[in-house]
Amino acid sequence: MVRTIQLNKRQEHILQIVKDNGPITGEQIAERLNLTRATLRPDLAILTMAGYLEARPRVGYFYTGKTGSQLLTEKIKKIRVNEYQSIPVVVEESVSVYDAICSMFLEDVGTLFVIDKNGSLVGVLSRKDLLRASIGKRDLDAIPVNIIMTRMPNISICKKDDLLIDVAMKIIEKQIDSVPVIKETENGLEVVGRITKTNMTKALLDLAKDEMI
Ligand code: ADP
Repeated sequence: MVRTIQLNKRQEHILQIVKDNGPITGEQIAERLNLTRATLRPDLAILTMAGYLEARPRVGYFYTGKTGSQLLTEKIKKIRVNEYQSIPVVVEESVSVYDAICSMFLEDVGTLFVIDKNGSLVGVLSRKDLLRASIGKRDLDAIPVNIIMTRMPNISICKKDDLLIDVAMKIIEKQIDSVPVIKETENGLEVVGRITKTNMTKALLDLAKDEMI
């Protein structure tokens, strides 16, 4: 069986006891192991938190029968966008390509979101969009970004309560680096955050850390 957390010998033993005898109380498990209930408490807490065991009041502990990978999948499918979103950088659609390039460097981001006068999302500018516009001897000060941006309705968006895994799917399917987190307002789509490949990598690291309780 694939385990996502490394269980120690005693925890494996407890798991086996509950598997064979559950439902069983903490007291009864302690007796079988010749230990006190207090000594067992942290192990039982870990096994319950990790999802291997379930505790029911006045009945005792049950073996859930879930494998490590099932538990990991369940955990991944609970992560929401707002737990990982970072601050978005926006520019107005009338700014020049030159100024957008400066903003990208100054703000140290790989994607800029473009808004109209009302603050509503109308476009996206990636590094390559700006590089493409810079090829040739064009006057970058004279070209507004709304000429070169990817525009609505072709922009993949998400909301703060969406599942992070669904955004991961959009990033892979559309082969993009980031997705704006938007909030619908009377003025349109307000950009309140962004999810990038870096945020995804952070989520992956946190999951890996979590498994090493
Ligand atoms: P780069 O172009 O620097 O490799 P991306 O892969 O993010 O960066 O962008 C690829 C193309 O997709 C660009 O033309 C960009 O405007 C567009 N794009 C970026 N993000 C989105 C998005 N969330 N929805 C739709 N199109 C996007």
